[in-house]
Amino acid sequence: MARATIVGRPGSPGVGIGRALWVAAAEPAPPPRPGAADRDAAAERERLRAALAAAAGELTALAGEATGRAGEDVGAIFEAQALFASDPGIVDPALAAIDAGATAEEAIDRVTAAQADALAAVDDEYFRERAADLRDVGRRVVDRLTGRERPPLHRADGSPAVLVADDLDPSVVVAIRPEMVTGIALAGGAPTGHAAIVARALGIPLVLGLGLEAGARLDGDDVAIDGSGGRLLVGPDERDLAALTPVAAPGSVAAAARDLPVEVAANVGSVREAEAAAAAGAEGIGLVRTELLFLGRSVPPGLEEQRSLYRRIAEALPGRRVVFRTLDIGGDKPAPYLATEPEMNPALGVRGIRASLAHPSLFETQLRALLEATPRETPWILLPMVATAEEVAAAREALARARDASARLGDPVATDVRLGVMIEVPSAALMADALAPVVDFFSIGTNDLVQYTLAADRTNAALADLASPLQPSVMRLVRSVVEAARAHGRHVSVCGEAAADPLAAALFVGLGVDELSVAPGSIAGLRGTLATLDVERCRVAAEKACAARSAAEVRAIAETLVAEPAPVAGGG
Ligand code: PEP
Ligand code: MG
Repeated sequence: MARATIVGRPGSPGVGIGRALWVAAAEPAPPPRPGAADRDAAAERERLRAALAAAAGELTALAGEATGRAGEDVGAIFEAQALFASDPGIVDPALAAIDAGATAEEAIDRVTAAQADALAAVDDEYFRERAADLRDVGRRVVDRLTGRERPPLHRADGSPAVLVADDLDPSVVVAIRPEMVTGIALAGGAPTGHAAIVARALGIPLVLGLGLEAGARLDGDDVAIDGSGGRLLVGPDERDLAALTPVAAPGSVAAAARDLPVEVAANVGSVREAEAAAAAGAEGIGLVRTELLFLGRSVPPGLEEQRSLYRRIAEALPGRRVVFRTLDIGGDKPAPYLATEPEMNPALGVRGIRASLAHPSLFETQLRALLEATPRETPWILLPMVATAEEVAAAREALARARDASARLGDPVATDVRLGVMIEVPSAALMADALAPVVDFFSIGTNDLVQYTLAADRTNAALADLASPLQPSVMRLVRSVVEAARAHGRHVSVCGEAAADPLAAALFVGLGVDELSVAPGSIAGLRGTLATLDVERCRVAAEKACAARSAAEVRAIAETLVAEPAPVAGGG
């Protein structure tokens, strides 16, 4: 689609930049199967009952996860949805429809649609929301009965996506991975709708009411959304992007930062996101996910292409710390040119630093590009998935080889480099005192640290309660990492999604981290939270959190630190 600005309404503040990913609405339940006339009504009733029970179980688990990630108000949405799945007002008419000849999927589809229509017809916001929730539950039960798959919520190549849809169910929004989705643009929706509430709670920028007639045609286009101004920009140029969020006046970033207990930096995966981070007033970039530049291609980017991309990212925040993470490829981010053997457990396989060390020339090219991108600056280079000090030593040797290779060819390279490690494998957290002397900084990746500490797949919604950054085990690991960093004067940042969660952020402040690094769209919200914190109380609370016996106890402790979020202005 040609360059355009489409005006809608604000839904959730922040700027989201990426390629549009069209999320089609779920199709209605399929028509009866041939021969359905002689199907056994008793068996259909049983199928329906089993699917309703399974949906109720999923929704109860989702409520727990949502409470953990987004707060009790959001959890309550799914608790209420779980009740729909056992409500006799829904179940009885659906069973009656089966007795009258419908299949289980037709019956639940028809009954939930009819009741949702009736609720939506009442001129009241509350009833309209209940209607949307009921439809969400109906679609979930039909999915279970038919094995229908929902469209993916992130781009196959892992590049930053802006989801475009007519509307999204709240249960879909809560399943979004914020590290892969920078924003949401809806043709319909309501600012007080549950989808918008969930997006605000998760810090995902959202615009709605765009009235897009053919949103599917945007699929794959470069877009940007302005969640506060309620606009979708198609094919934005650099000036459009710079204008999206008022650029902080000179000195105002420093002024905004002055009273905050930690630095607020941004996680980015592209030049555009780095520009958005600057526009949002990031004090630096705590994490450049360089692998996003490598995915979805049949050959890796060469030296020159990488060097120019890294330079442009660094130039978006001149004079500020920009931390480039080397390829975190492999695992769930496969790249065809790595030619890795299929793995039984990709999350435990040859990924991150392991893949880089296994492909020395790929690694050397990346390190050369990083050293050559800003030869007069001090590059900060971060190694992902480090488990041992030997890996750091091997990476240092690779860095020395890369520097020699550039020097031999006469290419100017940075002479002063900071080398750091992601702390995302429990082994690295436990060995932080041995790693601190051999690195310059730590960056705690809570997404993976939680996954590996609790042995709970970060993408498995059924394990979301378990996979919480508020687990006392995670708090203790973060505490020991900060202690090791302190003892050796090392900078320590948290760059996992938990850094944007007000409760977890308050505890990280109490544990003494130096920096929180979050998606550009979450910077303003995080600043708001940090401005209200009393650091001394956070310290006491963090100690209690480390001594707590459960994630629920940690949550209760953190809740005493964080004021209720102010309602988001705009919309309506
Ligand atoms: C993390 O694991 O917390 C992290 C920031 O890395 P990623 O989400 O890219 O795995
Ligand atoms: Mg990680």
